[in-house]
Amino acid sequence: MSRVYNFSAGPAVLPEEVLQEAADEMLDYKGCGMSVMEMSHRSKVYDTIIKEAEADLRDLMAIPDNYKVLFLQGGASQQFAMIPMNLMKNKKAAYIITGQWAKKAFQEAQIYGEAVAAASSEDQTFSYIPDCSDLNIPEDADYVYICENNTIYGTKFKTLPNTKGHTLVADVSSCFLSEPVDVSKYGVIYGGVQKNIGPAGVVIVIIREDLITEDTLPGTPTMLKYKTHADAESLYNTPPCYGIYMCGKVFKWLKKMGGLAAMKERNEEKAKILYDFLDQSKMFKGTVAKEDRSLMNVPFVTGDADLDAKFVAEAKKAGLENLKGHRSVGGMRASIYNAMPKEGVEKLVAFMREFEAANA
Ligand SMILES: *Cc1c(COP(=O)(O)O)cnc(C)c1O
Repeated sequence: MSRVYNFSAGPAVLPEEVLQEAADEMLDYKGCGMSVMEMSHRSKVYDTIIKEAEADLRDLMAIPDNYKVLFLQGGASQQFAMIPMNLMKNKKAAYIITGQWAKKAFQEAQIYGEAVAAASSEDQTFSYIPDCSDLNIPEDADYVYICENNTIYGTKFKTLPNTKGHTLVADVSSCFLSEPVDVSKYGVIYGGVQKNIGPAGVVIVIIREDLITEDTLPGTPTMLKYKTHADAESLYNTPPCYGIYMCGKVFKWLKKMGGLAAMKERNEEKAKILYDFLDQSKMFKGTVAKEDRSLMNVPFVTGDADLDAKFVAEAKKAGLENLKGHRSVGGMRASIYNAMPKEGVEKLVAFMREFEAANA
């Protein structure tokens, strides 16, 4: 067996020991004679799996009791519709547009009501986070929406926007569990797990209880009401059972690693190795404002598309995979999520240094 260093933006690297544990339990989960993939989601064994996953996540993020944790499907993209359908009581919301995912959410919300662009960084290809300390937010806006870490562009909100008392909704797909968060500052925190937690197919929604109501937009399908899933504790219908089981294993791994404060320290250390190299390199350059740099997704370029392509191809041969930038921006992107070991980043930087010397 030989595993590569996988810098994919998602689905992405998972902790090796978690994968090994899952492999060990594949045919016979804890003596019950079947795989977690084969068991009823109503069984006692599975109930323990999903309840423990929720309890561990609550523990990791210190989620207050007045928030529900939902394990849903449809990806982060389905939340782009589910959020307005459930939260747009006044049919108005403010969106801060810091990348393609935020823009997609903004466009989707326009189907359901008036989505106002309160700020945007599109003027400079989303290479920075706009000043959100004093935005023009309509008084009757139902919520303010952000994409907290911009997976494609590599920026992150270092301070949350001043919502002027409005409910904050955040897509945290690519920074989920990368550092401690104060959940009480948000109305809704959600993310697809395939970036920084588990396998594709699960989206986790952490939502304040008062936002879960029967009063959804007319025509909202039962499956797209938060209340449906909150009342049934994520077991209204068959959930993505195996994916939730894997997420639960990653939560336990994170706890063993020391929790989110320890992860933050580790992630800062990893990102610094790469950013420090970029800042002194004559060939490679980071593409975003320094103060807004993401700890998770690091885009960089040489300024020469042919050289970029050569780099990506040679890196792959050296066991450093999936470094090609998003198709919309080109260049390179190294996603260095929780499960990327420090050695992976060190190997990448050593390779970049060699490549620079060989191609100068
Ligand atoms: C990947 C990603 C999405 C889309 O996720 P899907 O699960 O594929 O719908 C949305 N937002 C962010 C920030 C992402 O990184």
